[in-house]
Amino acid sequence: MALHIHDTLRREKRLFVPRDPKRVTLYVCGPTVYDYAHIGNARPPVVFDVLVRLLRKTYGADHVLYARNVTDVDDKINQKAAKEGVAIGEITSRYEAAYLSDMALLNVSPPDLAPHVTEHMNEIIAQIQAIIDAGSAYAAEGHVLFDVASYPSYGALSGRNLDDMIAGARVEVAPYKKNPHDFVLWKPSKPSEPSWPSPWGDGRPGWHIECSAMIEKNLGLPIDIHGGGIDLTFPHHENEIAQGVCAHGHAHADHAHDEYSRYWMHNGFLTVDAEKMSKSIGNVLLLNSLVKAMPGEVVRWALLSAHYRQPLDWNQNLLDQSRKNLDRLYGVLRDADALLGDFDIETLEEAEMELAENALDPVLDALEDDLNTPGAIAQLFALGNALRELINDAEADINDVAMARWSLLEAGYLMGVLSMTSDQWFEGGDSGLKAEVEALLEQRTAARAEKNWGEADRIRDRLNELNVVVMDGPQGATWRVKG
Ligand code: AMP
Ligand code: ZN
Repeated sequence: MALHIHDTLRREKRLFVPRDPKRVTLYVCGPTVYDYAHIGNARPPVVFDVLVRLLRKTYGADHVLYARNVTDVDDKINQKAAKEGVAIGEITSRYEAAYLSDMALLNVSPPDLAPHVTEHMNEIIAQIQAIIDAGSAYAAEGHVLFDVASYPSYGALSGRNLDDMIAGARVEVAPYKKNPHDFVLWKPSKPSEPSWPSPWGDGRPGWHIECSAMIEKNLGLPIDIHGGGIDLTFPHHENEIAQGVCAHGHAHADHAHDEYSRYWMHNGFLTVDAEKMSKSIGNVLLLNSLVKAMPGEVVRWALLSAHYRQPLDWNQNLLDQSRKNLDRLYGVLRDADALLGDFDIETLEEAEMELAENALDPVLDALEDDLNTPGAIAQLFALGNALRELINDAEADINDVAMARWSLLEAGYLMGVLSMTSDQWFEGGDSGLKAEVEALLEQRTAARAEKNWGEADRIRDRLNELNVVVMDGPQGATWRVKG
């Protein structure tokens, strides 16, 4: 199978054909760095990280160019800085650093490019000027507005028709707008807000223009794939297309939208205990707290357990299942490692490595089918079961065990899991667990020394709850999570 992608614009699954297989380009709208990301915000970077891993495997790591931007100019950033009485740069660098460290814990590989809005003011201003020159934008009262009526395909991505939109208009009607749906490319800043000089007066860019300007500068048009959450389809991505196309005066070209991005992918939304996450309900789960409370791979597995286009409900059962699934696969790896000892994978012959590589095909087939991660997870289990059978078979050839282990790890790599050694997983993978178990073992030693059997029983029960087995040996107690 070859990669097929569900294209939001065409509303169908299509064979993926890059413009240039030596330079496959992907852009995903990244974080606005004004606060800690919530668990929903982690879905796009994790989903698209799997896509990038697949593209790198297919086209070669050097032939994929992945950009994920950082929005460091935004009203919410200004408000946060004012509230804390600190510089804007302090807020943006604090939350960008937090985002990157959370991403690292989720095994999200860094994008090739992370363009920042503050570093692209010249490109943003140049693109706005090009849109004005092409007759698709106008300056009015210190603002520059995109003239939606100038672009006949406006609405193609989100399936909205401008006439219907106007009939049901609920957008802000500013006196300087020709059409209520005209959107801001540039606006004046308030006295306390950051501002940049421009031909239309000092001010700052609207939100949408940053992505089309940074895409054009860093990747070149058209890009192959543009991704983001489903909420970005309208207005953000619709407006990006309008800007990118009209900056080149192609508003009336046939299939004008193809000149911006060849494929569009959008992930579905995440709910928490079947409810929308919202500050007023008080169910906003911060990614930063989650990755402190459990291994990042558990969070990542949970995020990949549903197909990316489907909604995903985040609940305790999902997390318990995800941890159990990983325990099971790491358990197989632990037993394979014990059997293999210091077996050197380099001693396998080329033909054997080819077989090991072929065993990945079902995983690749699932991922190439519009990134079917639940299907790929099922195939990870099939690889785990095959390895388990070899381990249990006393007659099995050790080379076959090594090959099956390699296939499982390689499939895990594509999904961004199984990145630790089994020892790390069962003892240190969950640093919170490790700290608690070790504290309990110390208390247990003290309780036994004091012959406080009630306390020793309480500790044993707690270890049981944590799914931990303790093995008392001559060198003291060792422990592991039940596999
Ligand atoms: P924001 O910071 O709101 O601009 O969101 C950053 C990214 O997270 C965007 O791609 C959003 O579409 C995505 N996103 C926000 N909330 C959720 C959610 N509950 N589920 C899935 N994706 C989300
Ligand atoms: Zn964007």
